[in-house]
Amino acid sequence: MKSAVFIERDGFLVKTIGNDERERPPHRVEEMQIQMEILPFLEAVHDAGLLVIATTNQPGVANGDFSRRELELMHTLLRRRLPIDQILFCPHAEDDDCPCHKPRPGQFREATFEHRLDINHSYLLSENWQDAAAAQAVGITSIMVESQKNGNGHRDFVVDTIGTGVSKILHLHAHQSELFVH
Ligand SMILES: [Zn+2]
Repeated sequence: MKSAVFIERDGFLVKTIGNDERERPPHRVEEMQIQMEILPFLEAVHDAGLLVIATTNQPGVANGDFSRRELELMHTLLRRRLPIDQILFCPHAEDDDCPCHKPRPGQFREATFEHRLDINHSYLLSENWQDAAAAQAVGITSIMVESQKNGNGHRDFVVDTIGTGVSKILHLHAHQSELFVH
């Protein structure tokens, strides 16, 4: 069974626009800026045999900020530039009560089913409490990059940078492989 690293799209793979309350994801391909700084980290994750799966809530589809087609176009371009195995998204509004809007774990469940993931040996890299809550619900180990978005809920590890977080994941994963061998 394969393990995966789940990564939040916004702020990790794609730059957000504006600050604080006005912070938002890009609405059009032309305003999407890819965080190329993460490339070596994603390569290291792949080299260790882990899948890279991006997840994201995009209520802008339901709210009419952008179309699903535009979003999928952005994701096609994103996958051309960065080694991402799959991008999952929730297109619903926050109060739609769908199973895929994080903190509900639908996106994680879908990827687990599709790739037959070893969920208990898979990892989350994010800064959002919604991700940590969804990860906890399905048994994914959460590594949170410290930020004001962390909240006060459960998380397994807190790190100061994305690079430290990836090192932590690779260390945990290598240790896990050792346990299998002995
Ligand atoms: Zn949804």
